[in-house]
Amino acid sequence: MMLLPYRPEPLTDFSQPANRQAFEDALAKVKAQLGKTYPLIIGGERIMLDDVFPSVNPARPSEVIGYFANGNASHADAAIKAAYYAFETWQHTPAAERARYLLNAAAAMRRRKHEFSAAMVLEIGKSWAEADADTAESIDFMEYYARQMLRIEDSSHLLVPYPAEQVQLRYIPLGVGAVIPPWNFANAILAGMTSASLVAGNTVVLKPAEQSPMTGYMVAELFWEMGLPAGVLNFITGPGEVVGARMVEHHLTRFIAFTGSRAVGVQIYEKASKVVEGQLWLKRAILEMGGKDAIIVDETADLDAAARGIITSAFGFQGQKCSAASRVILHNDIYDAVADRVVKLTEQLTVGATDAGPDVYMGPVIDEEAYHKIREYITIGMSEGKLLTGGGIIETNENGYFIQPTVFGDVAPNARIAQEEIFGPVTALIRAHDFDDAIAIANGTEYGLTGSVYSKNRARLEQARREFHVGNLYFNRKCTGAFVGVHPFGGFNMSGTDSKAGGPDYLLLFTQAKLIGEVL
Ligand code: NAD
Repeated sequence: MMLLPYRPEPLTDFSQPANRQAFEDALAKVKAQLGKTYPLIIGGERIMLDDVFPSVNPARPSEVIGYFANGNASHADAAIKAAYYAFETWQHTPAAERARYLLNAAAAMRRRKHEFSAAMVLEIGKSWAEADADTAESIDFMEYYARQMLRIEDSSHLLVPYPAEQVQLRYIPLGVGAVIPPWNFANAILAGMTSASLVAGNTVVLKPAEQSPMTGYMVAELFWEMGLPAGVLNFITGPGEVVGARMVEHHLTRFIAFTGSRAVGVQIYEKASKVVEGQLWLKRAILEMGGKDAIIVDETADLDAAARGIITSAFGFQGQKCSAASRVILHNDIYDAVADRVVKLTEQLTVGATDAGPDVYMGPVIDEEAYHKIREYITIGMSEGKLLTGGGIIETNENGYFIQPTVFGDVAPNARIAQEEIFGPVTALIRAHDFDDAIAIANGTEYGLTGSVYSKNRARLEQARREFHVGNLYFNRKCTGAFVGVHPFGGFNMSGTDSKAGGPDYLLLFTQAKLIGEVL
């Protein structure tokens, strides 16, 4: 198959009036379709339930995005069975054919790109730029994994030559995958884990997060429109602790691809390790979990660039990224200078309903539960540090979940707001007396996902290269924003199972190697 080399999808420039208009049109189109009721799709069949739950716009919670089936354990069972049945044939589909489903889905998503982004503006409160980047990343995953599968499928050329036999090393699929994504990259992570599973020859039961089922449905629908055979991709909705839990426990589930919180990830890890009756394999668990990511700034750094990087990393998508900079570790000598700059920039950020236009930088936080949890952390922060800016809510007539971008200063490294994942627009400034101290503070959490160092000192950057223990380490740039294929993504310790989404070895996690030697 002739393929152009993979290149990340370009981001949209919203200063161009034509792009702005195209996005407005997409928003209008999605708005015209709000409030529909969606089915479960099991074995190619649409199943409507009377029992439904709403997905709502967090900027205006009375606006219903769609009603989704409140599935239960029996629906999870039926979906796993359908996927198990479909695996009998799908596993033997040639890799090139499987790759074509991804390439065609990527092309189709590219054509309707702004619709996918507009759905996230409304369903999860992403700004236009953040939603556009999410959709671009989704396209990238499909393009990238299609190529990676073709590269690894027959890896016989990696073997040591042995003239007496004709030997072959093939990466074959595992079986039925339970794909359980979070809401925060409602398109990219969901499409990434799903497409990796499918292209490797597995069949899937996909359960989107309760907060973002419409975006998930749009992605699944795209795959079905590409002609994916019935049962290869099944879509079920319902509470994670009911439907997701059952998917994990089922004896026919072969692997779990999960991205979400540490608490749920650990639960899944424990459950997946328990061999249940009728189970013929040890389940594989690919778990990507939380972060408590830090940016270090030393006294040699470009302080303006550092302050800009801190703001983007801490407050992009309201701080609701696993890679968000929720800790900022500043050398004493430049602490005040950076704190002043960060406060000034924070106070310039615009907060509001993101469908108003591309200039709204921050939207609402995802839901009422997150709103209360983040506000509790702000209360804790009041006693643990000094409030430098923010700390309040932004009231709207429509009761949106808006929280001011918030910066606490003089926070101790072991304070709760410096240790626990808040997952909101709150960051903690921490003082360090030298670079060794800064690295020790940065490494002093149970997570290890992303981190940045701003410095012009070569020896220190080399030291950070060796000692700063995170999966994604960046120098003199923000700690968010990884490009598929360029910055394979995933963290250490309690940030997950050390996998690298969008990297050259990711698909190995979705396959098993089969060696065949034939005497000549
Ligand atoms: P979450 O853990 O609450 O939910 C994630 C998914 O798990 C959802 O689909 C949910 O329905 C499901 N779920 C909930 N309980 C379950 C159970 N008992 N069994 C099976 N499934 C269950 O996380 P979230 O709020 O959706 O996402 C935010 C979290 O995700 C943050 O901690 C963030 O750091 C993390 N995250 C990590 C990465 C990464 O690459 N490491 C990327 C994005 C988000």
